[in-house]
Amino acid sequence: MKRLLALAAAAFISLPLTPAVALGGSPGAPGAGDPYFPDQGNGGYDAGHYDLALDYDPSSNVLTGVAAVTARATQALSRFDLDLVATLSVRSVTVDGRAAAFTRSGSELIVTPAATLASGRTFSVVVRYDGRPTYVLDPDGSRDGWIRTGDGVFNANEPQGAMTWYPGNHHMTDKATYRFAVTVPSTRVAVANGDLVSRTTAGGRTTYVWDAREPMASYLATVTIGKFRLTDTRVGGYRVITAVDPKLADKATDFAERHAPVLDYFSSLFGPYPFSSTGGIVDHAPNVGYALETQTRPIYPVAPSDSLLAHELAHQWFGDSVTPTLWRDIWLNEGFATYAEWLWLEKIGSRTVQTSFDGVYAKPADDEFWQTPTADPGDAAGLFHDPVYDRGAATLHVLRRTVGDEAFFTILRTWASEHRYGNADTAAFVALAERVSGKRLGPLFDAWLFQPGKPAL
Ligand SMILES: [Zn+2]
Repeated sequence: MKRLLALAAAAFISLPLTPAVALGGSPGAPGAGDPYFPDQGNGGYDAGHYDLALDYDPSSNVLTGVAAVTARATQALSRFDLDLVATLSVRSVTVDGRAAAFTRSGSELIVTPAATLASGRTFSVVVRYDGRPTYVLDPDGSRDGWIRTGDGVFNANEPQGAMTWYPGNHHMTDKATYRFAVTVPSTRVAVANGDLVSRTTAGGRTTYVWDAREPMASYLATVTIGKFRLTDTRVGGYRVITAVDPKLADKATDFAERHAPVLDYFSSLFGPYPFSSTGGIVDHAPNVGYALETQTRPIYPVAPSDSLLAHELAHQWFGDSVTPTLWRDIWLNEGFATYAEWLWLEKIGSRTVQTSFDGVYAKPADDEFWQTPTADPGDAAGLFHDPVYDRGAATLHVLRRTVGDEAFFTILRTWASEHRYGNADTAAFVALAERVSGKRLGPLFDAWLFQPGKPAL
C-alpha cells in the first residue's frame, strides 16, 4: 500500500517541478503528470482566477469567449500551455497586455510571452477565441463538456470537458476562483457556479454575471444554458439558487426547499457547508445519463431522487471542497458521497446504513465487482465503475465499525477542515484515520482499497 502511494506521489511531482536552470527560463510542462490523463493540466504556473466573458447563441451553437486568467509563475517561464480543444479557434493571446505568440498542438494552446516570466511573478493571460463547441467522448464511453440540449447546453466537465469551452489549467490540483459573464438570448437563462451578481438585458440579449468566490477545480465549473425557471431564495441559513427546466417543473416543485434539511444534516456530521451559496440545476437532458456535483450547484439531467440529491450535496464537502490530487483517488469523492447517501437514507427512515452495506457485501466473492481495487480503478475507463462508489462506501463503513462512531466522524470532519478548498490523496486519508483513531489500520485499508478480491469481515 505505502509503496504504491509513494510511487504515485513521485510520478506526480516529478513533471511540473522541472527546475528552471536556463537564464531565459524554461517551458512549463504540457501536463500535470496524472497517469490517467497525462496531457491534462500544465506545469510552470498556478492559476488563481478566471474571468470568463462568454457570448453564446444556442441556435447556431457559436460561442465567442474572452478568457482572462490570472496566474503565478512557479518557475522562470519562457513558455506555457493552456488546455483548449483544437476545434475552437484562438484569435489572439496577450500576456500582461502585450501580444504573445501562440501555437496549437492537440488540446494544448502553447503561449510564448514576449519576455520570460520570472519565477513567483503574477501575470495575466487573455485569450480571445470562438467556435462551435462540442463534448468529448470519455474512455468509458460517456460524454462530458459542452453537451447541447433542445434549448441550450448541459455543461458538465468531469473529467475532461472544461477544455471544450474555455482555456485553462484543467487538472484538479490547480484550483482558482471564477467570474462568469455569460450573454445569451433573453429567452434563455445562463446558470453558473457561485453567486448570481447581476442580470442585465439589452437588445434582446441578457448577460448573467456569476461569482464563484471559493477555489474551484475546473471539472466542477459549469455554464449551463436553457429555458430555465431561475429562483434565488434564502432557505434555512443558505442562499439557494435553482434553475429548473419548465418541462420538469411538476417533478421538481419543492426542489429549492429540499436542500436545507440535507445540508443541515451533513453539516452536523461533516462540519460547516463550505460555500457561500447552494442550489442545483434540473435540466431536461435524458440522454446524458449522469448528474454531476458542479460546485455550489449540482447539475441533474432529470429531477433528482432523495439519494441522488444527497449524493451530489455530500460532494460539496468530498470532491469539491476537498479534491483528490490524482484521478486514481476518485473513491475519495465517490465512495464518500455514496456513504453519505446511505447516511441520508437512514436519516429519512428509508433503510439503515448497515442494510446498504449488506447489499454490497452480499455480492459473491467471484463477482467481477471485487476485482477492482477501490483506490486505483486501473485507468481512465474505470474511473466511474461501481467499485469506486460501492466498495468505496463499504470501506468507510468497515472503518467506522473498526474505530467507532466518535472517531469515524471526527476523521470525516477533520478531513473536511484540514483540506478545505485544497487537494489530498488516499495516503493522507489513511494517515489521518490512524492518527485520529490511534489504531494501525494498514491491513484494513490494504484489503479494502488496494487488493483485488473480496475482503473478509
Ligand atoms: Zn458522485
